[in-house]
Amino acid sequence: MNIGILGLGLIGGSLGLDLRSHGHHVIGVSRRASTCQTAVAIGSVDEASIDMNVLAVAEVVFICTPLGLIVPTIEQLITFLPTTTVLTDVGSVKTPIVQAVSPIWHNFIGGHPMAGTADSGIEAALKNLFIRRPYVLTPTSTTPTSAIEIVEELVKQIGSDIYHCAPQQHDRAVSWISHLPVMISASLISGCMAQSDIEVLKLSQSLASSGFKDTSRVGGGNPELGVMMAKYNRDALLNSLSQYRDNLDEIIELIEQENWLRLEDRLRFTQSNRPSFIKD
Ligand code: NAP
Repeated sequence: MNIGILGLGLIGGSLGLDLRSHGHHVIGVSRRASTCQTAVAIGSVDEASIDMNVLAVAEVVFICTPLGLIVPTIEQLITFLPTTTVLTDVGSVKTPIVQAVSPIWHNFIGGHPMAGTADSGIEAALKNLFIRRPYVLTPTSTTPTSAIEIVEELVKQIGSDIYHCAPQQHDRAVSWISHLPVMISASLISGCMAQSDIEVLKLSQSLASSGFKDTSRVGGGNPELGVMMAKYNRDALLNSLSQYRDNLDEIIELIEQENWLRLEDRLRFTQSNRPSFIKD
């Protein structure tokens, strides 16, 4: 199959490596010529260009640009694609993309491969990144079955576990397990930095170990990604932040009241429920 990938970074580059290994002919498009050259050199694409017109021969195109560019990029692309081309995107938020693209391109299905690393750009592309990782597809009532089947088949080939849901459900779920943790972790770091006793601050920095490493990791990541999450998933994120704040208030109250039994009950509840989120 002729497959286009627009946006040759971590996700686009990794998709290319895996799709080529399944015998597909992959045509890449990216903003910088140097990225196109690297993508060909590392075997992520068969050919690459900075001119998106090369995608006119692709049967399926994966849009893998930064989140804010997905809709404008598709608007440009559809001016010359044949109506049979299946479009799908990999954006981490689905509602605004599906709402904007579904009315303008019939053969579109939103997607989100839930895999990644802390790195970005074509140099960060990895083989087998998507194996046994969830890949969420968000078809609507008007998405053609043929488009769903084509994208599903490719997603199966790269080894992902497919999940179907409505774009809004996806956004609410990722708000809880991905976007909220970034904000909580960032608050942890800034809360520690607000410590006014400089000696205690320095001591805490020296003593910080595995617990702090685990809980601060996502808050110490790329600020642009955090802003994207807040900007494009604002409502769901505000809702989970406010429920999280209520939870924190309840914990504060239990400690103020020295209600150790209720606090222990709560921590037993969280201890027994964590495994249902984390599958090792
Ligand atoms: P990335 O590594 O920064 O890759 C994005 C690439 O898009 C860049 O390398 C850039 O290539 C290219 N690009 C930028 N502007 C462009 C334009 N106007 N036209 C064509 N190409 C352009 O980012 P990523 O992590 O792969 O994320 C890409 C998408 O995947 C995002 O929508 C994100 O929400 C989604 N996603 C990310 C993850 C993750 O963990 N990172 C996981 C799942 C989904 P040049 O070098 O040519 O500028």
